This record gives sequence, C-alpha cells and structure tokens, in this order.
Amino acid sequence: MSVRRIGIMGGTFDPIHQGHLVAASEVAHRFALDEVIFSPTGEAYHKAGDGRAPAEVRYLMTVVATASNPRFRVTRVDIDRPGPTFTVDTLRDLRAEFDHDHPGVDVEWYFITGADALSEILGWRDVEQLLASAHLVGVTRPGHELADPGLPHAQVSLLEVPALSISSTDIRARVRAGAPVTYLVPSGVAHLIAKYGLYQQSGAGSS
Ligand code: NAP
Repeated sequence: MSVRRIGIMGGTFDPIHQGHLVAASEVAHRFALDEVIFSPTGEAYHKAGDGRAPAEVRYLMTVVATASNPRFRVTRVDIDRPGPTFTVDTLRDLRAEFDHDHPGVDVEWYFITGADALSEILGWRDVEQLLASAHLVGVTRPGHELADPGLPHAQVSLLEVPALSISSTDIRARVRAGAPVTYLVPSGVAHLIAKYGLYQQSGAGSS
C-alpha cells in the first residue's frame, strides 16, 4: 500500500500572507507532499488584546487564502483546543482524525513552520515525541541564521524561501500606517482586513 505524505503548516497567520503560501507550495514540491493542512494557532493569551486578530478571524483569513489550491486545506484543531498550542497536540489530534477517516493508511507527517518558531519548539516539552512523530521543516528567508545550530539533521530540514521576506509583522505595521498591502496578501485577505478593521490599534505592529 502506498504511503501518504501530509504536511502540517503551523502558524499564527496574523495575517496569512503570500510568503506563507509560497513556502507551503515549495515544501510540498520538495517533499512530494499529497496535501498541506494549515493549522492556525489557538488564542494566544500573551498576544490577545494587543491589536491582534481574534482566532476565528485568523482562521477565516486562512480558509480564504488557501481556497483556490486543491492540495491545501485548513484545520480547526488548534483553534478549538483550549489553552496554548503545543505542536505535539496538533500532531496527535490530526493523526487521530486521519486514522479515524482512513483506517490502515500509512502516513508520513511533515510539520512546517518558521525556522525561528521551530528552534523554540525544539527547546520545549515532548521534543523527543515530536521528532519521532514527524519530520520538521523550518522555512527561512535567505541569509537567516538559525538560533539553535544543534538540530538533528535526520529529522529536521531547513528550506530558504525568498518570498518570506514578506512578514506578518510588516503587514500589520503597514495597515496601521495606511500603506497598501495589495499583492503582499491574497486579495480576499486584504478585503477581510478592511472589513474587520484589523491592525489599527497600537501594539499591532510588533511580535
Ligand atoms: P511566531 O513566534 O509568531 O513566529 C516566529 C517567526 O516564524 C516569524 O518570523 C513568523 O513570520 C515565522 N513563521 C511562523 N509560522 C510560519 C509559517 N507557517 N511559515 C513561515 N514562517 C512562519 O510563531 P508562531 O506562529 O507563534 O508559531 C509557529 C508554529 O509553531 C505554530 O504552529 C505554533 O503552535 C508552533 N509552536 C509550538 C511550540 C510548542 O509546541 N512548544 C512553541 C512555539 C511554537 P510571520 O509572522 O510572517 O508568520
């Protein structure tokens, strides 16, 4: 029986931008993934009330941004689970969902995120379990140096993606300053930013 190769693209996506979409597409190509599941993080208590978009709006922007790609979909597992988002929980929930829907089908899991976030994850809890359950892919902008050079190469890959010179922090700052974000985000996301009046408050510009 053939093995399915599934990527999970984890991120806050506040907002999702063209760099995230190009990165997911590049990783899918590089690792011959059958699909990429975008997983927006749950409500981050340390960022809430700081001019950031609520989880439901980040989820909606992610659905709109990925709608035209048949190999991309979005999951609510991190949004619906109370408390902070830990990647071991993301993987456990998505694996349980897949095994329930496709009993007996083997899957190779890939967890994709920004290289900065990845080096943090590797310093956190249950890292052995995480490395045993998925191949980790850190996407970086060219010239970026990883904070943690001691990564186990068999289970972790790094991929430079020039389009990641676009960042959510910069987009929030541009919106707040009244600068255009056209072409930096998909047009549906730009419409949602305007419709919900996102990123106008002070504090929305910094991570
Ligand atoms: P973050 O600290 O908000 O982002 C750190 C950097 O990584 C930013 O430059 C960000 O750029 C970039 N980045 C984040 N997600 C990305 C993606 N999918 N593709 C490309 N670049 C990305 O990170 P975060 O969004 O909170 O966390 C990222 C993922 O790691 C989430 O799934 C989160 O649950 C997981 N995580 C897990 C643990 C843990 O298990 N202990 C700890 C930390 C993070 P942009 O702002 O432009 O996206």
